[in-house]
Amino acid sequence: MAERLLWEQEAEGSNPFAPIFFSKGHLTTFPTMTTNDTTFATALNCMDGRVQLPVNDAVRYIFGVTCVDTITEAGIVKFLSDETDAPETQVALANIQISLEKHGSKGVAIAAHDDCAGNTHCEQTQKQQLARAVTFLKTHFPTTKIVGLWLGLDWKVETVVSP
Ligand SMILES: [Zn+2]
Repeated sequence: MAERLLWEQEAEGSNPFAPIFFSKGHLTTFPTMTTNDTTFATALNCMDGRVQLPVNDAVRYIFGVTCVDTITEAGIVKFLSDETDAPETQVALANIQISLEKHGSKGVAIAAHDDCAGNTHCEQTQKQQLARAVTFLKTHFPTTKIVGLWLGLDWKVETVVSP
């Protein structure tokens, strides 16, 4: 109970990580869930908890949508660039197809980040992987807008490959 009270106080205070859709210990209604203007884009993101919110924000902004279908693997960019025959790559491609067909996704973003536990290459190498991943994705989804995103240790989103 004490933990919950602390959580409630933090949510209402000046905590910069205060949740957007959670208050007073209850989930609030996602504002677009019951409207007809829900729109989607697709993110291929690392599983890392530090990059979920920044990438979600950036992808909604870039494609002008309200919701982001998110496909995650640890260090996902390595699969879409250097390990394209891996099962993880095939699952990602199948999930992108679902997002495009069932949700009318407006575009696909693939993200990589510094200090990645699943893909330990340096920034320069990961940015090269991002470029190859975008090229690979374009061969599968030639009419889809695809962007490559990088997050440094400030967790700000940088567009490495523009749509
Ligand atoms: Zn990572």
